[in-house]
Amino acid sequence: MSPIRLAIVGLGKIARDQHLPAIAATDGIELVAVASRNAGLDGVPRFDTLEELLAHGPQVDAVALCTPPQVRREQAATALAAGKHVLLEKPPGATVSEIAPLLAAAQRNGKTLFATWHSRFAPAVEPARELLAGRGIRSVAVVWKEDVRVWHPGQDWIFEPGGLGVFDPGINALSILTRLLPRPFFLTGATLAFPENRDAPIAATLSFADDAGLPIRAELDFLQTGPQTWDIHVETDAGGLTLSGGGARLLEEGRVLVNEKEAEYSGIYARFAALVAGGASDVDLAPLIHVADAFMLGRRAVVAPFDW
Ligand code: NAP
Repeated sequence: MSPIRLAIVGLGKIARDQHLPAIAATDGIELVAVASRNAGLDGVPRFDTLEELLAHGPQVDAVALCTPPQVRREQAATALAAGKHVLLEKPPGATVSEIAPLLAAAQRNGKTLFATWHSRFAPAVEPARELLAGRGIRSVAVVWKEDVRVWHPGQDWIFEPGGLGVFDPGINALSILTRLLPRPFFLTGATLAFPENRDAPIAATLSFADDAGLPIRAELDFLQTGPQTWDIHVETDAGGLTLSGGGARLLEEGRVLVNEKEAEYSGIYARFAALVAGGASDVDLAPLIHVADAFMLGRRAVVAPFDW
């Protein structure tokens, strides 16, 4: 089969750090163009916008949208209308409701829409899910704390409406949890800390439960310096399981069961190629719905201003 001719839209941090190496390592996908206003790659045709690329660029079959969430819906709609497959970085949108029309457009045009959740491709997630399927779960504790200045240097969009603030990383934990736990769960309370000069939270505490009363707690923080913490601890009737490193490691009562180098984005591109080949889409909004719920139910606390 001929390779999928792919264009990256928004050549920023995640496109360079993860998408470029994963595309280079994936059979059946070839990078043929970039649409980015301020960045380009040697030897790859570059256009300022997706529209210019579609009008004047080389033939592309698919686009990977690596832009901030606030501008992605319009780009996705444009690409789908032009008959392209679309890979969305996470979160899939700036609102929950903007995704249904995109999925309808993909289905109407016989194209793939893939709303990626990169953390679900972390190596310890599926082994943890299988272990948990056979156990009684008593409680879940999420601690997701990272340094926004390291992972999103100068990215003002993240603290603008629709940028999600600390939920930008926090949604990764929720993408794992919604895959890991055997039953759906729902938000019961939240506190969101908004810097007085910003429109998105910089920290949050969340409580969830399921219909059996399982207690789930999450602590999110965007100001953690030093070692970074991306841990999910699950207490079960057969002992404690900990996913750490964002899903790279699985420990049972301190014993290491999985410890692998993360290869999340090669998993994403292999899945994208399979979805395109099978004429299917993959869009799961569960993590985004939990975040929307937190904005809906959460108490708002105003905290010190944030500057880079
Ligand atoms: P970023 O470094 O700001 O890159 C996004 C790129 O999109 C920018 O370099 C910019 O390129 C383009 N862009 C920015 N604003 C735009 C606008 N208003 N209209 C059109 N294009 C615009 O952000 P990032 O860290 O790569 O994050 C992008 C997405 O990836 C986010 O949804 C984020 O959640 C996700 N993600 C990020 C990380 C991470 O560690 N940073 C990890 C996983 C997922 P031009 O100026 O050249 O157009």
